[in-house]
Amino acid sequence: MKKKNLKLSDRGKLIIVISVLAILFGFLFFNIEKNGENHEIIKEENYYMKIDYPDIENKKENRKIIASIKKYIDEKKGEFIDSVRDLENKEIVYDFLVSNSMSEYEDITSVHLTVYSYTGGAHYIREDKSYYFKTDVGEEVDLTHFLVEPDSLKRLADVSYSYILKYGAENDLNFLEDTVREGTEATFENFSHFTFMQSGLEILFPPYQVASWADGEIRIVIPYNELKGIIKDEYLKVSDIPSDVVVEKKTRDLTKFRDKKLIAFTFDDGPSNGPTNKLLDNLDRFEARVTFFVLGSRVNQYSSSLLRAYEQGNQIGSHTYSHLNLFKLKDADILREITNTNANVNAIIGEEPRLLRPPYGNINSEIKSLTNMYTILWDIDPEDWKYKDKDKIAANIVKNAHDGAIVLLHDIYETSVDGAILAMEQLQQEGYAFVTIDEMVTLKNVELDKSKSYFKF
Ligand code: ZN
Repeated sequence: MKKKNLKLSDRGKLIIVISVLAILFGFLFFNIEKNGENHEIIKEENYYMKIDYPDIENKKENRKIIASIKKYIDEKKGEFIDSVRDLENKEIVYDFLVSNSMSEYEDITSVHLTVYSYTGGAHYIREDKSYYFKTDVGEEVDLTHFLVEPDSLKRLADVSYSYILKYGAENDLNFLEDTVREGTEATFENFSHFTFMQSGLEILFPPYQVASWADGEIRIVIPYNELKGIIKDEYLKVSDIPSDVVVEKKTRDLTKFRDKKLIAFTFDDGPSNGPTNKLLDNLDRFEARVTFFVLGSRVNQYSSSLLRAYEQGNQIGSHTYSHLNLFKLKDADILREITNTNANVNAIIGEEPRLLRPPYGNINSEIKSLTNMYTILWDIDPEDWKYKDKDKIAANIVKNAHDGAIVLLHDIYETSVDGAILAMEQLQQEGYAFVTIDEMVTLKNVELDKSKSYFKF
């Protein structure tokens, strides 16, 4: 009798624990959705973490896929924390970064995660993970879903093999046929990262799979006409893309700002949907234009925000492709971070960025000559990512404002955008005008120098 009672109360406890967990879990999802903030930044004594969670619509059907992506990231986070916990060297800041790219094609949404961790040694450790799910019902699918029949994988592998060798020859890379053969063996694991593009099916082979680490990731694009009988017809549709898109950028008359104090608001880590657009909605109220330092990995997903920002007359700079610490990269990887971002931005706005904001402000003269861009840093940092409090952010900007200042903010947080708007309201009363870096340079008659770093003007 007694035993039975005990059992019951154990079960009762379990139910309570499960309920509390369920509520917490639900709250977490609710919170992420409510703020539209899928970013996490953690700074500890000897490590730094920056995680970009994919912006998947928070509907009931997607709960499972959201949970499994979160579980994967949590596992990787745990592994990283375990491996840095016992590292003695407090001088080194170890880091952990998760970036993602998302795309929709026909009835499928795909998410690609790249996890970088640095726990000492010669370079970052990189892991890639892709998810594909039906956009309407959230059901996860794999490559089988796209293949005409199971045997099609073998044919896809053969086509890929020849495309990789062709890519190697075109880019003067000495690929070893055996390594390419091994990395393109007809297994689902070898073909787990693919994206349907305008020009064909893009297949990504992460570093080491078909080439050496130094050759980096390899992306090949197989035209759809080569995939007939391999990929189902419904996924071989090429939609019409308007050619020769004319993008118009507005330039403005700067004479009215001649007698004003000038301040350049800059926004890193975007573009995004909500926060970027909220900022753009408000700029005209203050006759303001700002500068965005965008991540190359995000510009395709948020291309409409980027295009709108540019067409409104704001300036677009680069914040590199994956937000890696450039001090920890080899020259070839640094160049990839720069050129991939510039190409992605150029494809959307028709112009390559000339300004670079290196992640964490980490730059030196060798990196400067390698990137061949103008380095723009900042002198007002309200630490918006940490406080997420619009009043505190605005107060810090207003307190430190001066003619020629550069303010660092992030257009991935609504509180940062609200803080910027509040600061502009107050600074406008104090006779400030809000300009892009290029406008500042013109108004102050500065000749930019690629060997310098600019903190203010
Ligand atoms: Zn950043």
